Amino acid sequence: MPAAAIPLFWNILSEIKVQMIISRARQTKFGDFRPPSRTKPARISVNGDLPPEAFLMTAIHELAHAKVYFEYKDKGLRNIAPHGKEWKRHFKLLMEPFLHPDIFNEPSLSLVKRHMQNPSASSMRDREMFEALHGKNNHDIQNQEATHLSNLKNGEVFIFRNRQFKRMELLRVYVKCQALDNKRLYRIHGSVEVERV
Ligand SMILES: [Zn+2]
Repeated sequence: MPAAAIPLFWNILSEIKVQMIISRARQTKFGDFRPPSRTKPARISVNGDLPPEAFLMTAIHELAHAKVYFEYKDKGLRNIAPHGKEWKRHFKLLMEPFLHPDIFNEPSLSLVKRHMQNPSASSMRDREMFEALHGKNNHDIQNQEATHLSNLKNGEVFIFRNRQFKRMELLRVYVKCQALDNKRLYRIHGSVEVERV
């Protein structure tokens, strides 16, 4: 990430108590957030091959998911959309101190400022900003992030909370899924972010 962003970024990371993993290049996503499990702390991952400005913005995007998780985990996360108003609010607040010419070059700075007025789930939807951050030729990636369960087809296998499931059928907002390890059936909310395998 841009060198001038590092001290500020580390402060935020230690304050939220999230582990950060730098991943190998992934074709399907730039980063993700996983809530804590019984054995592991909450963590974000960001692809290590991203250009510095894109790396920073992806990391902050994922930290905003962590913020929402910790703010709402006891109040109920069920009605909170992954990139809804709660996430937008935290993303804006976290990005604010980084919107500085020491951190983002032009034209990235102006384009990121514009984008942050109403950030979307995927920076790819803001083509101009995406090209400034990632370079013009980096359009091969399909999604910025993990897919939502509701977008998968029945029969598709996915990873959720480090376990593999098969999608069975949509039941209103929930999706009936089968865990591949113990063959039991579960109802999982369609808005959760899952990873295709
Ligand atoms: Zn996201």
